[in-house]
Amino acid sequence: MIIDLRSDTVTKPSAGMLHAMMTAPVGDDVFGEDPSVNALQDKLAAMFGMEAAIFCPSGTMTNQIAIKCHTQPGDEVICDKLSHIYQYEGGGIAFNAGCSVKLIEGDRGRITAGQVKESINNKLDAHKAYSSLVSLENTANRGGGSCYDFAEFENIKTVCRENGLAFHLDGARLFNAIIAKIEHAEDYGKTFDSISVCLSKGLGTPAGSVLIGTKALVAKARRIRKVFGGGMRQAGFLAAAGIYALDNNIERLAEDHKHAAAIGEALTKKDFVEEILPVETNIVIVKINGRHTSASLAAELKKNNILAIAISTTQVRFVLHLDINVAMVDKTIEVLRKL
Ligand SMILES: *Cc1c(COP(=O)(O)O)cnc(C)c1O
Repeated sequence: MIIDLRSDTVTKPSAGMLHAMMTAPVGDDVFGEDPSVNALQDKLAAMFGMEAAIFCPSGTMTNQIAIKCHTQPGDEVICDKLSHIYQYEGGGIAFNAGCSVKLIEGDRGRITAGQVKESINNKLDAHKAYSSLVSLENTANRGGGSCYDFAEFENIKTVCRENGLAFHLDGARLFNAIIAKIEHAEDYGKTFDSISVCLSKGLGTPAGSVLIGTKALVAKARRIRKVFGGGMRQAGFLAAAGIYALDNNIERLAEDHKHAAAIGEALTKKDFVEEILPVETNIVIVKINGRHTSASLAAELKKNNILAIAISTTQVRFVLHLDINVAMVDKTIEVLRKL
């Protein structure tokens, strides 16, 4: 038995999800004729109280489409220095949108309204790029699955409105935050101009992400998705997995959070763990020092059939997900005790 804690993307579709996929009504989604894709898009738009949504192959694509929609080449995007859009999307902000970035040193991946305000360039200064977009991440992956306080979103939104900036949310793990903080999707819909959610992380589908926003934004996004090569045909087989996930796999994220807390607790007792980021959702990030390096700890775990990623020379990340059951968590804790 392999206990794969590298990422919440390693999940395989359950029997129920596979059945939903195999029996999905489909059509050509580039023609807008796939009933399952349309149903998924309508369902997510309704959940967030927003006008429209568009299904895409990946979260990288939904983020990159959003950035392209909200900016002009030469503009500047404001985000945390650890954010996925900057760290893990292949330089797409520059490649796809022709924009530069203003990186903010946040607290576990979260930035404040004050920091955003200070980062906005003076429009009247010809030396400066136009600041046109603020992009946040919730939960913040490199922040160890950290969550914002909702009030900070509202504060940042006010700064965006006052300065004419668009406001995007990379919500790859947004449902983890909503479950952990007992929040409401509609509140997010009221606050952000665009929201990207991943179906292939904690929700457990084989692929797919959805960008949610106004009708006008989504119309523009459909065109950009085509240009990026992301128009899919009978994508309803994948969309059906998404609908199944929204119906069955949101509430259960609380189990992953409980499992993460238990593994975090076990790690705090190890002398080679110098620091553990507060465990708020399904991610545990520890700083390693002393008897182990991040690489040697990952190697030692692997000998015991437990997979975790050394995300830097000093940090190891464990991610909980729906293919990890209580027995696997107990086994992981038992192995950690002996290390
Ligand atoms: C995984 C992830 C994405 C999207 O990744 P894809 O693999 O392209 O679907 C975006 N943002 C964050 C924070 C992520 O963790």
